Amino acid sequence: MNENTKLIEELREAVAGPVFGPDEAGYAAETGAHNLAVEVRPALVVGALDGRDAAAAVRFAAGRGLSVAVQSTGHGAVPGHADGTLLINTGRLRELSVDAEARTARIGAGNRWADVLAATAPHGLLPLAGSAPGVGVVGYLLGGGLSPLGRAFGFAADHVRAFELVTADGGIRRVEAEREPDLFWALRGGGGGLGVVTAVEIDLFPVPHLYAGAVYFPGERAADVLHAYRAWQEALPEAACASVALLNLPPLPHLPEPLRGRFTVAVRFAYPHGPEEGARLLAPMLTAAEPIMEAVGELPLDALGMIHSDPADPMPIWEHGDLLDDLPAEAVDALLASLTPEQAPLVLELRALGGAFSRPARHPNALDTRDAAHTLLAVNPFPIGLAPFEALRPWLRGAGLPTLRGANPIARDPETAARLAAIKSAYDPTALFR
Ligand SMILES: Cc1cc2nc3c(=O)[nH]c(=O)nc-3n(C[C@H](O)[C@H](O)[C@H](O)COP(=O)(O)OP(=O)(O)OC[C@H]3O[C@@H](n4cnc5c(N)ncnc54)[C@H](O)[C@@H]3O)c2cc1C
Repeated sequence: MNENTKLIEELREAVAGPVFGPDEAGYAAETGAHNLAVEVRPALVVGALDGRDAAAAVRFAAGRGLSVAVQSTGHGAVPGHADGTLLINTGRLRELSVDAEARTARIGAGNRWADVLAATAPHGLLPLAGSAPGVGVVGYLLGGGLSPLGRAFGFAADHVRAFELVTADGGIRRVEAEREPDLFWALRGGGGGLGVVTAVEIDLFPVPHLYAGAVYFPGERAADVLHAYRAWQEALPEAACASVALLNLPPLPHLPEPLRGRFTVAVRFAYPHGPEEGARLLAPMLTAAEPIMEAVGELPLDALGMIHSDPADPMPIWEHGDLLDDLPAEAVDALLASLTPEQAPLVLELRALGGAFSRPARHPNALDTRDAAHTLLAVNPFPIGLAPFEALRPWLRGAGLPTLRGANPIARDPETAARLAAIKSAYDPTALFR
């Protein structure tokens, strides 16, 4: 029996969930990531059935000198993150309950935002989910959580009430503001690597009417649209959320005909305080150019994903992101001059920050980028040139995007980085967690 086979057998004794090694059927399904550009190659993988199972797997790894990686959906998988580790797949931790009166939800780490939206929408309540409902709740929250509704309500991580966490010592801790305050600070925006989160408790927001969606313009009018967007967005009240994306979508049959195989510009908008006011706020943007498709209106709360309409199926993903301090007209010109439709990535988007994104969290956390004005993100199936980032350099932080973990590395401010490092060495002194 080789060493790995022995390890697999011993782990099967220690946990209740399924265990697979690289040569076994089941390994590919258990390790497969949404991001098909990343091959996830742990030494062995366990599908934890509950918190106790996750804790048993952590103790097993610690006792045998193995590192631990954690994966739910693999939206944030990065090359090498699980190589040679014991990978804990949290996908089976599916508990989910909503307390409509308290406006909170308790969510097992295996849920995606789509599961949470389906449970909260019937109560007229929304979580601060991201643009893609297929993204996992926990990975998103650990990164900070930039929601299409964030200008109205803040970062999703600011509205976490508690985590259940298995730490490197194999113990299960409840982490909240008054209990384990260091971990509570670090888990909200620090990016993870401190343990296995098995469940979270979050705030929900009453949204009786969500006016939201996207308006699409032809790429040939990108200059008019981007300049109009810049001026329009700047004048919006803080509860009005907006982003703009240059789209270079392939000619796939499932895409709407006006967007298929064409360079287009999407202006996304969300207003959580009623359709009349929402339509009034959006109206000036509709005159920037003749839209080729309008998909804005009162959205069912569980259709939040329609604002961005991110691709839902697994695909290879390369991302590069940064923060912009300002978007003056010169920056728009520079961005436009850097791009030709032929070289544009699949998606190049600017999301407006400000509003509630810029306010401090009720309980401080590791998100240290509250004063930026916009995010800039390029997404493509394969690495592509960084001309737009070069062109925007005078206005860029050069700091990466804290909420988008799969992208380029994040530069945190030195104080935040030092506190995160100190908490990591206090709770995970042997760097068990990747
Ligand atoms: C199409 C798409 C749209 C996106 N939209 C947004 C958006 O609108 N806003 C935004 O902020 N982000 C967005 N993201 C980024 C996303 O939030 C991150 O990629 C996030 O890491 C995904 O989390 P996951 O659990 O789905 O992925 P996974 O790859 O399963 O997890 C990512 C990492 O999180 C950690 N992790 C996950 N679960 C646990 C756990 N239970 N315990 C401990 N650590 C854990 C691990 O380190 C893991 O490597 C988007 C990504 C994609 C691909």
